[in-house]
This record gives sequence, C-alpha cells and structure tokens, in this order.
Amino acid sequence: MKNWEKNVRKVIPYVPGEQPRKERVIKLNTNENPYPPAPAVSEALRQMDADKLKLYPDPAVGDLVSAIAEFYQVNSDQVFVGVGSDDVLAMIFLTFFNSDKPILFPDITYSFYDVWADMFRIPYRQIPLDENFCIRAGDYQCENGGVIFPNPNAPTGELLSLDVIEEMIKSNPDVIVVVDEAYIDFGGKSALPLVDKYDNLIVVQTFSKSRSLAGSRIGFAIANPALIKYLNDVKYSFNSYTMDTVTIALGTASIKDRAYFETTKDKIITTREWTKEKLRELGFVFGDSKSNFIFARHPKVSGEELFQALREKDIYVRHFSKPQRVQEYLRISIGTDEQMQAFVDFLQEYLKNK
Ligand SMILES: *Cc1c(COP(=O)(O)O)cnc(C)c1O
Repeated sequence: MKNWEKNVRKVIPYVPGEQPRKERVIKLNTNENPYPPAPAVSEALRQMDADKLKLYPDPAVGDLVSAIAEFYQVNSDQVFVGVGSDDVLAMIFLTFFNSDKPILFPDITYSFYDVWADMFRIPYRQIPLDENFCIRAGDYQCENGGVIFPNPNAPTGELLSLDVIEEMIKSNPDVIVVVDEAYIDFGGKSALPLVDKYDNLIVVQTFSKSRSLAGSRIGFAIANPALIKYLNDVKYSFNSYTMDTVTIALGTASIKDRAYFETTKDKIITTREWTKEKLRELGFVFGDSKSNFIFARHPKVSGEELFQALREKDIYVRHFSKPQRVQEYLRISIGTDEQMQAFVDFLQEYLKNK
C-alpha cells in the first residue's frame, strides 16, 4: 500500500440504473418520463444563442428561481435550485446534517442517502419499513441528527399522508426534516403548504420525472428563507456556477407550461393504473404505488430470473439484489401505453408455463 492511500477519501459509489447504448429498447428502469419535455422547451432550445455561452451563467439562477416560486406560490427567497435533486440533496446533507447523533432514514429507500452519509462522515440509522413496506412514523421519534425520506418512498411507491408527515415534523423540532418529493406529482399531496408553518422542513423536488427533463439536471428545494440562505452559502463556497445557461432557459420554459405538465402526468397515472390491473391478472403482488413506477414480485418466478428474461427481450426494468427483503421485486417504471402493452404481452407469454 502506498503511504498516500490512508489519506484517500474512499467511497462506495451509488450505482445508477443502466443507460443502454442501443436504441429501440423499452426502458423502464430509471423512472424517466416516456414523454418529451414541454413544447416550450424545444422552442427555447431553438432560440438559444451560442454567443450567450461566453459569459458565466447567473449564479443565483434568478429566472428559474422566480418561475419556480411563481408556480408554487412561494417567495423567491424560499427556493434553492441545484443540478438535479441529487445535487440539492447532497448540499442539504453537507449543510444541515452535522450532528454527532445519527440521521434517520428508511432501510429500504433511495440508495443515495447512505452514500452521501458515508462520504460526508455523517452517522446514520436505517429504520426498517414495516411488513407492508410502509414507513412507521413513530419510529422517527427517537433522538437524531436529522430525518430524510422520500414521499412517495422509492423504490416501494408507498405514499404517506400529510397528517403523518406533519406528525413527523412536529416530533422532530430540533433537527431538519427533509421530504424528498421526486414522485409527488403522480398522485400524492405535497408537504409544501407546511413550509410556512415549520421552520425545520425542507421539501425537495425534481424536473427529472414529472417534467421530462432528466437529461437537463434540475432539482430544487423549498423551505423558509433562513434555511435557503444557509444552503446558498454552502453552494457558493463549493461552486458558484453549477447550473449552466442553457439549462436555466430550458427549466424556465418548462415550468411555465402548466397545461402540458398536467396532461402528461395524468397520462402516466392512467397508464400506471392500467398496468396494475394487468399485473394483478398475471398474479403479481405489489402495493398501491402513487409514483411513476410499480414495485412488484411474482410468487412463482424470482426477481433475478424475470429481470434477465426481460432484458434479453430489450425490456429494461430495475432489480435490486440488496437488501434481501427486496430481492424478489422488480421496479417497473411507467412508460407509454404501447411500451406497457409490449411489457405485459411478454410477461403473458413468459408466465404461461410457470
Ligand atoms: C430520481 C430521484 C432523485 C434524483 O433526481 P434528480 O434526477 O437528481 O433530480 C432524488 N430522490 C429520489 C427518491 C429519486 O427517485
């Protein structure tokens, strides 16, 4: 071992879902939106003048911050934007989780949380979900250094009611509580109305799923101005210009088109409910997902086998081999009606002789 080795910050990185290089696959493995971004986004891209790129972007991302503030009816000083909500969440971990006490999050959840905690040397405790894969709010009342969970949770799709979330915030007045709402637009009630009532709440959302902009990397947090100020102080100390000029323009165009957003998210909800019906007929077991994916297992075929069989037909879904409790499950993102029909057709054939 080299002497410098002991001073390396060693991390076990987050492993994102596969992005296959070939085209014409049915890609249901990373919860992307199957529909294109709002027409205003293509228009903004066409109008983009390369000359603008010689200047640094606006470090405060003013246009996008104002557009988000207007959409959600909050003040601009309550909005923080980042390069995807992954960036926003990483900044939140760095800024607010500095206690000696462990932060709390579910044992089955977004698998980036433990990676950031390890990287930033934050102690953490993973709280087991109940036997139905649900968060038990009462388990989050112990002493801790912060609380974070997605709502709906990933990869289970299980939604907590706003009452339960309010209880969790109320019972943790001395720490920051983060609700990661990456999938809230697909049928849940956002905790945003609670932001004015609780100064320890941060709500995080993303343009990657419900706004079809995973490739642009836009995420944001809404909280009271004091928390947003702390976040910006850390961000500016790290890199002032994280979001580029093109992305700022595209994100701003995207959020202004409310009608398109409503239409595509409603289409996905309808397709999700159709897919649930078909999966039920095929014997799959799953909860009542309120996200743009379904977390399902088949009693007769292992998760690994189904994952591989689908993959051979160029249908990509997500399979997690850890923890053991989720090994039998597949996480199936909701695509277009045609994609889901092809997915169901394949399963019908495959499961016939099982
Ligand atoms: C997809 C996802 C994110 C990250 O999304 P970005 O593309 O970085 O905005 C954050 N949290 C959860 C739970 C997610 O599923």
